[in-house]
Amino acid sequence: MGTPGRRCSKLRSICLWPVACSLMSLSEAYRRHERRWADNRYVYAVVSRRSRGVSVGVNLNPDKGCNFDCIYCQVDRTVPPAVRKVDLERLEAELDVVLSAERDGSLYAAPPFDALAPEQRGVRDIAFSGDGEPTTFPRFGEAVALAAEARRRFGLERTKLVLITDAAYLAKPTVRAALTVLDANNGEIWAKLDAGTEEYFRMVDRPNVRLQAVLDGILDAARVRPVVIQTLFMRVDGAPPPAAELEAYTDRLKAILAAGGRLKALQIYTIARQPAERFVAPLADGELDAIADSVRTRVPVPVEVYYGVPML
Ligand code: SF4
Repeated sequence: MGTPGRRCSKLRSICLWPVACSLMSLSEAYRRHERRWADNRYVYAVVSRRSRGVSVGVNLNPDKGCNFDCIYCQVDRTVPPAVRKVDLERLEAELDVVLSAERDGSLYAAPPFDALAPEQRGVRDIAFSGDGEPTTFPRFGEAVALAAEARRRFGLERTKLVLITDAAYLAKPTVRAALTVLDANNGEIWAKLDAGTEEYFRMVDRPNVRLQAVLDGILDAARVRPVVIQTLFMRVDGAPPPAAELEAYTDRLKAILAAGGRLKALQIYTIARQPAERFVAPLADGELDAIADSVRTRVPVPVEVYYGVPML
């Protein structure tokens, strides 16, 4: 039996549900995070730690193109993409297929979804999270509208529409317009901020923009609605993030707040699945806790911690 809010020794994470659970199978469920589902090209479903259940993903970057090249990215770009273009009509039909499977229960007949107890089921969110940056898709606004319509059609009032983004283009007029549709549909922005200095940013995210573009994007969005910040800390060539970097990171967060940005939560996490680069590794639970504690003392925003899952 899990105890919500208490550490689980097998999963090495906070227990999420007050139900009898098969911990190892849930751990395995988290690890199985393929952005593929049946014959779908763009829409998939995963068991997500941060969503605390089923997350339906929408991949607007099947070509695997991204404006970042994060050293911890899990997208395997050594394998050529099977599809390069997004067909919105097909995407809409695929959303229907996945949401129908969830509604009629057939989704839960096979791994990894069979690891979820009945109380854990339900679509927690429809998330724009694919093999690249969703806001670079020229018809991003149309895709958000399609997801909002599917959410309405399936009566998913409590389901969030989530944009998982590197934040570089959040201030772009077309993206800003799409975000208003997100807002009207229980929307949430999970914006990546992995660094406090330009040097560390370039090392871990290998971006095509400067850190200031990310900070400007986050502030622009956070002045309109509270934004969730996602930060991945890891070991690089065996070394954890330097203390000066962590201080610069918290200074950036404080600057966003001081400039009128609102932050809903900070999700601090580490690597949970094998990334493309072999010189990066997860932080230990204690290291992540120490970072989170230090951030809590400096930034008045709720901090959530997501531990690594042992690599297979
Ligand atoms: S922003 Fe996301 S998809 Fe792009 S390289 Fe980084 S982790 Fe991968």
